[in-house]
Amino acid sequence: MARTLKDLPSALDRVDELARRLAGRRPAVFLDYDGTLTPIVERPELAVLSESMRNIVRDLAQRCPVAVVSGRDRADVERLVGIDGLVFAGSHGFDIRVPGGRRIARQEGENFAPLLETIKARLHREVDSIAGSLVEPKKASVAVHYRQVAEAERPRIAAVVEAILADHPTLRVTPGKMVYEIQPKLDWNKGHAVLWLLKALGLTAPDVLPLYFGDDVTDEDAFEALAGRGIGIYVGGAPGEAAEDRPTAAGYRLETPEETGRLLDTLAR
Ligand SMILES: [Mg+2]
Repeated sequence: MARTLKDLPSALDRVDELARRLAGRRPAVFLDYDGTLTPIVERPELAVLSESMRNIVRDLAQRCPVAVVSGRDRADVERLVGIDGLVFAGSHGFDIRVPGGRRIARQEGENFAPLLETIKARLHREVDSIAGSLVEPKKASVAVHYRQVAEAERPRIAAVVEAILADHPTLRVTPGKMVYEIQPKLDWNKGHAVLWLLKALGLTAPDVLPLYFGDDVTDEDAFEALAGRGIGIYVGGAPGEAAEDRPTAAGYRLETPEETGRLLDTLAR
């Protein structure tokens, strides 16, 4: 039977085991942002990185390669993290930049921009009247947040999204925490991005141990991509939102971003 999130042991209870797995190997650390490095907040712009977490990640990046892999636009997450020398993969890995220059390493789905523009306009027309909804145009997707929408109104948002998908078979929706993210239907996700980065950064040798930290459904693609060759660490979300019975390819869990900080701190030493 597939392992579910609630079956995962705490990574903090297993630091010795993790140290053994890391012995003689170099870690390569991949970090989601929202819910992993910062607590989930009411509005996306409020997810500010704490100074202590910034210091921990900065220290870690002195010791090993660190990449931030987020659903946010790359420029947005780069600004929020505010550390030079990291790899940034934005838009769920659709937009990747490696350090050492302004070179954009990889951009997927650029030709979808006009269609996403149309979708943004349609969403504004159809959901702006629903109190609490928030349409967020992003570089490679359009997100509709419903965290602040009354429970009874949420099916209306879902219906709008469904209708859009029915009209546009080249699009798909990625569900997240109280958000629908409408994006191009391309065979590319955080997992592909992580594997692409390992190759691009020359980190495919057996002495490299990739670790991926993430809290959301989209992070499962990365856990799966690393299954058998790396370590997936699920970070528990806000109470009541964690899909405890969800099957997972992660190997460990942490309860909060604060615990993420504690584990990263031990890795940085
Ligand atoms: Mg997240």
